[in-house]
Amino acid sequence: MKTVLIIDDSMFMRMVLKKCLKDGFDFEYTEAKDGLEGFEKFKTLRPDLTFLDLTMPVMDGFEALDEIRKFDPDAVVIIVTADIQEQVQTLVMNAGALMVLQKPPTTESVALAVQKAIEVKNVMEANK
Ligand SMILES: [Mg+2]
Repeated sequence: MKTVLIIDDSMFMRMVLKKCLKDGFDFEYTEAKDGLEGFEKFKTLRPDLTFLDLTMPVMDGFEALDEIRKFDPDAVVIIVTADIQEQVQTLVMNAGALMVLQKPPTTESVALAVQKAIEVKNVMEANK
């Protein structure tokens, strides 16, 4: 796991997430400020892991998740949101998200999420 794409319209949130990641992992980071920019960057970068906000202008996270998973059914996407509604969680999980990470992220919660992503990627690799 090397490349990480962070899609969030809040520059502050992107910074917080990156800071949490940098405490434990040595990744290369690319950022996008909305779903459309995120999807475009996903297509060119093909990141190992994507963190995706839900509420964003231009294209929201629900639509971006659909586009990303349509483009790459193996895409590993972690939704980062403050929305704790069960419907929202069910919706994004059904749309192929790996998991939902609660805002604000912490070094611990981000580390657990990345571990899960690494495990899933290892299983996908082993089944190829
Ligand atoms: Mg947002």
